[in-house]
Amino acid sequence: MADVFSKTIAAISTALSESGIGIIRVSGPDSVSVCSSILFDKKGQPVLDKMLPSSFRHAFVKDGDEVLDECIVLFYKAPHSYTGEDTVELQCHGGVLLLKKVLDLVLKKGAHLSEPGEFTKRAFLNGKMDLAQAEAVMGVISSKSEMALKISKDQMSGSVSNAIKELRAKILYETAYIESAIDDPEHYDLTGHDKEVKILVSGLLEKINSLEDSYRSGKYISEGISTCIVGRPNSGKSSLLNLLTGQDRAIVSDIPGTTRDIIEEYVRFDDILLKLTDTAGIRKTEDPIESIGAKKALEATDIADLVLFMIDASEMIEMDDLEIFGNICDKKTVIILNKADLGLKIKKQDIYHHFVYSGGKEFENMTEDEFFDRFPVIVMSAKGGNGLEDLKRTVKSLFYMGNITSSDEIVITSMRHMELLTKAEESLNNVLKTIDDGFETDMYSVDLSDAYRSLGFIIGEEIGDDLADEIFSKFCMGK
Ligand code: GDP
Repeated sequence: MADVFSKTIAAISTALSESGIGIIRVSGPDSVSVCSSILFDKKGQPVLDKMLPSSFRHAFVKDGDEVLDECIVLFYKAPHSYTGEDTVELQCHGGVLLLKKVLDLVLKKGAHLSEPGEFTKRAFLNGKMDLAQAEAVMGVISSKSEMALKISKDQMSGSVSNAIKELRAKILYETAYIESAIDDPEHYDLTGHDKEVKILVSGLLEKINSLEDSYRSGKYISEGISTCIVGRPNSGKSSLLNLLTGQDRAIVSDIPGTTRDIIEEYVRFDDILLKLTDTAGIRKTEDPIESIGAKKALEATDIADLVLFMIDASEMIEMDDLEIFGNICDKKTVIILNKADLGLKIKKQDIYHHFVYSGGKEFENMTEDEFFDRFPVIVMSAKGGNGLEDLKRTVKSLFYMGNITSSDEIVITSMRHMELLTKAEESLNNVLKTIDDGFETDMYSVDLSDAYRSLGFIIGEEIGDDLADEIFSKFCMGK
């Protein structure tokens, strides 16, 4: 990776849209010489020559005789910068064309256009942060809820990293002791040591399990709870969708997928985020291509974490309702008795009596209370908006978000971290099994070392170039 640092990189670090200020960041060994050749004071003298580390100055950006812009220059001397390298930041006027012209000039003077995430990758490689912290930087940027932001900020300041380092330190101490004992049996005694290892490993597994448990909630918080609205035609699905998305239009975003029939919209329920999927199947449309999406509505529930099941309660329960329930009853589901304003023809008890036999054997022996714990029922009027608060409360209680909001909870949000924790868990379970099977100590020290290595990958120890490239390629440009 050494030659990574020989190049000086540059990118526009702010969003490419018209704004008050746009920032171009230049980092690497030649950043001062590259920028010196384009930044001048009003007397035409190069400004960077006279700048102290961690200082800023006004300057003209000049391409030969032409002044491209006036800007503020910030200079950070290595290692006291985000990347750990000499870094120059140009705060220009935030015009898209202007920023591109200034960037082109910087590139013409010898800098290379950075890859996505390359500034943060350099920060990681220079030891400014470990890999888990570096990954959290993207989380901070992409957070869509207060809770997601808090978790990412905690991760960025080392919450996950510290937990992993603590686990690794314990394993390292143990493996070092075992190795010493194998090398020097006169001074280190392994008699009865298996018992101590079992206690240690059980403790480690407990911590790992609690980190793994946090992943489910962490995933919901950072990515949103994948939610589907289902129900027979005219039950009020699109009315509910409009009610939900109309709540907070500022954060509703249509993200068209590769095909017309998958659209995701985000809706915030206070501090939790619902990712409404397959909304194309719900929205009323004359477009035959889009309406194909409607047939996929039930299929989409396969990947849903939450199903909102609309029932037109101004009419009697129909076979279609029972059939839909049979398809979704393995999911966390809120049953919504809609059109309450027209008078309810269906009562909560009717739901129990009709549905308890539609979900398969698992439900047949459920009492009413058990059934409603599993499938909460709320009464709504999607058209008028009544019942929305009840829906919010019910969804929140289904996902037990309360424990995550406590200030010192360490939360995993990365699938990569989760997979590595699972690997470490497997290795540690192997240790316990090897001890129980009565094998020698050196048989399980390999598994201890494997667990140590898997955990190390989380914070970026022993990470290869390919993996680093893959992780940072998901970052945004200029970060
Ligand atoms: P979808 O086919 O399931 O998407 O159902 P829609 O949302 O299009 O609703 C079908 C019809 O029911 C429309 O005429 C809506 O205005 C009406 N509707 C939906 N929700 C309510 C409600 O809560 N009360 C009343 N009175 N009408 C509703």
